[in-house]
Amino acid sequence: MDLFKQQKVEDFYEIGEELGSGQFAIVKQCREKTTGLEFAAKFIKKRQSMASSRGVRRDEIEREVNILQQIQHPNIVMLHDVYENRTDVVLILELVSGGELFDFLAQKESLSEEEATQFIKQILEGVNYLHARKIAHFDLKPENIMLLDKNTPLPRIKLIDFGLAHKIEAGVEFKNIFGTPEFVVSGAS
Ligand code: AMP
Repeated sequence: MDLFKQQKVEDFYEIGEELGSGQFAIVKQCREKTTGLEFAAKFIKKRQSMASSRGVRRDEIEREVNILQQIQHPNIVMLHDVYENRTDVVLILELVSGGELFDFLAQKESLSEEEATQFIKQILEGVNYLHARKIAHFDLKPENIMLLDKNTPLPRIKLIDFGLAHKIEAGVEFKNIFGTPEFVVSGAS
């Protein structure tokens, strides 16, 4: 059985403007044709051969999808659907349209204690939810902390990008050095 839908994503979604990109992924706004609802489509480039260093290995893409499928929390981006074609796996994600928390704060003249507390609380609730399920995000950084809608009095935080996330197995030592270089303090173990 195919893990991901093999139909053309363009038959079901109108693909719109680019929202952002990562090393091997481009995220575009899209609209579901049947419902008119807006989502974000993350096109992840598949690695085409074992020898290649470009693109993402299939097991890594499956891990990201698998973890997202286990998550349902108000402060974490939700996965709606997954499509696949020869070159990409396309994650249809909840649209997080308020931009990065960092940019929001940089543009603000001042931040009240109440606002700061609310942001920190939401971030910690998201992380606590993950850790209670033994999921480590491994790439928490300002770019991955976004706002659902910045035009509300207390914007809702959404943690995004589960490309490096791992489930930590009890009794199994997890050793790896990864993350975004500026934010890696030391190798996790
Ligand atoms: P990622 O590789 O998942 O970090 O995505 C790359 C960039 O795309 C992010 O830094 C965001 O700017 C944007 N992005 C990712 N997911 C979403 C989303 N669900 N809604 C809106 N923009 C997103």
